[in-house]
Amino acid sequence: MRRISVFGATGSVGESTFDLLMHAGGPASFDTVALTGGRNVQRLAQMAVALKAKLAVTAHDDCYEPLRLALSGTGIHVAAGTSAILDAADAPTDWVMSAIVGAAGLEPGLRALQQGATLALANKESLVTAGQLLMATAAAHGARILPVDSEHSAIFQALVGEDISAVDRIILTASGGALRDWPADRLAIAKVTDALAHPNWSMGARITIDSASMFNKALEVIETREFFDVDPDQIEVIIHPESIIHSMVGYRDGAIMAHLGSPDMRHPIGYALNWPVRAPLPVARIDFAALGRLTFQSPDESRYPALRLAREVMALRGLSGAALNAAKEIALDHFMDGRIGFLDMAAVVDATVSQLSAETRLGTAATAIEDVRAMDHLARIRATEHAIKRQLR
Ligand code: NAD
Ligand code: MG
Repeated sequence: MRRISVFGATGSVGESTFDLLMHAGGPASFDTVALTGGRNVQRLAQMAVALKAKLAVTAHDDCYEPLRLALSGTGIHVAAGTSAILDAADAPTDWVMSAIVGAAGLEPGLRALQQGATLALANKESLVTAGQLLMATAAAHGARILPVDSEHSAIFQALVGEDISAVDRIILTASGGALRDWPADRLAIAKVTDALAHPNWSMGARITIDSASMFNKALEVIETREFFDVDPDQIEVIIHPESIIHSMVGYRDGAIMAHLGSPDMRHPIGYALNWPVRAPLPVARIDFAALGRLTFQSPDESRYPALRLAREVMALRGLSGAALNAAKEIALDHFMDGRIGFLDMAAVVDATVSQLSAETRLGTAATAIEDVRAMDHLARIRATEHAIKRQLR
């Protein structure tokens, strides 16, 4: 039986993964090695029982006792804390879902690759912060990475049987997020609740706000560059409000291969779970007549500075992705706590990346995870300083 582990099992992608695993037979079909979560220990315990997991881990030390109580008598091992999550990633397994949110997802994913497991990668931050290191680790250990981000799964599927050298362009679609139709002069006053009202996708809070600011798309552009190893100039972004086309690959003969489907993460998760087989999935089918039409708009880069920042990071490469991502995480924390405004997020990230490119050799490639950790740490300090400055204005 295939051994699986799910990191970030209690999140939005984690829940969809759990749903598919249960649909496919649960413990009768999979040997669940480890499930990890955060403070939602009751849900983590339920999932661990349902899948008959060997190990359940919470990221928080103070959640150890409630998790232990919830699983007492089940025979499921319990652990807590960041190092316990890394240990769980070392436990031998065949397929790992990487669905922790943020840079915290990087090291468990690297550990999974080091043991040669297939990594189903939802955690885009891994490729943004340490793309070259992640890809090199996979190659060194003969491990495979399967994209789970819907756009990257779409591109991956549109490339099946094709030669990457015949690719002209990769077109990432973006819904435009909750504030897409807001006039630009109102964006400054957008509140967290406004940015959370995503039109099409139901996702975790952080990525939903990142969709509204286009930081999600900025991360995905960098993710595309790192995963598919294409030239940054070949990557385009188009706003497609219906979220039916999940992305497209354009070939040198002018042909475009597009991947279409309902906006449901169980599509890309299921593809990565069953790859290379295309198995039946419990997702809605598209009714084209009911849809009527699909529309497109070019993104306005003055409205979305995140897209320009992504271009700068792709030009610099090295540790600049780690800096951008860490600064974005700090800016997002400050926005979510109501300390800075919506547009301040991009300003904080911009100021942090500019300062770090003057202060450090941001374009130097990471040779080890420690380089990434150090840049992540420094960028968080600088971004916090910039966020406080903006808060005091
Ligand atoms: P979420 O916030 O719903 O869930 C995050 C999970 O990670 C939870 O289980 C949480 O307990 C855990 N977690 C959070 N911080 C942690 C830490 N410091 N250490 C260990 N565990 C921690 O997030 P999500 O929306 O499911 O997104 C997960 C990842 O997948 C993100 O990288 C996101 O960008 C990516 N992604 C999500 C979607 C989506 O539809 N939600 C789509 C594409 C990509
Ligand atoms: Mg996506």
